Amino acid sequence: MLPAATLLALLVDLPDCDGYDFPVGAPDALGYYDAQPFGVNDHLGQDWNGLGGGATDRGDPVFAVAHGVVTLAGDQGGGWGNVVIVAHHLEVDQGLVETLYGHLETLDVELGQILTRGQQLGTIGDAGGVYVPHLHFELRDRAGLGVGPGYGADKPGWLDPQVFIDAHRPG
Ligand SMILES: [Zn+2]
Repeated sequence: MLPAATLLALLVDLPDCDGYDFPVGAPDALGYYDAQPFGVNDHLGQDWNGLGGGATDRGDPVFAVAHGVVTLAGDQGGGWGNVVIVAHHLEVDQGLVETLYGHLETLDVELGQILTRGQQLGTIGDAGGVYVPHLHFELRDRAGLGVGPGYGADKPGWLDPQVFIDAHRPG
């Protein structure tokens, strides 16, 4: 995890937020579907899969949904595998959003790196064979929640990524 003071210093260097895209098939998730939407089975994110099914999406690029700072990048073990977390400005002086990208095959960014919207941060994987390859994607309205539980009911901080992104598309 990136120390809070370091994060705040790096956020100053971020370009102003110009909206949010989807993390696969950028910018519009073209060629992908959400196999387990937010809230289904108390899922705290979305499970993005390629329309080709099975493992056809293994190694496909995963993109930062908005300008941001990498606050976590590494193997989290167990059911997570490689995870990247990115902190974003919602709008100038309107708080922070964090996005999480789980089960990645490759990590293409490092802690503290500044990313621009649409920049590749990793590729779709299977957390070491635990799953059929897919991207587990979460969106939180605050920073510092870490990898979290992945599932849970009424968890403060976790938002429905579909609703949020639909409401914050680039102008
Ligand atoms: Zn998931």
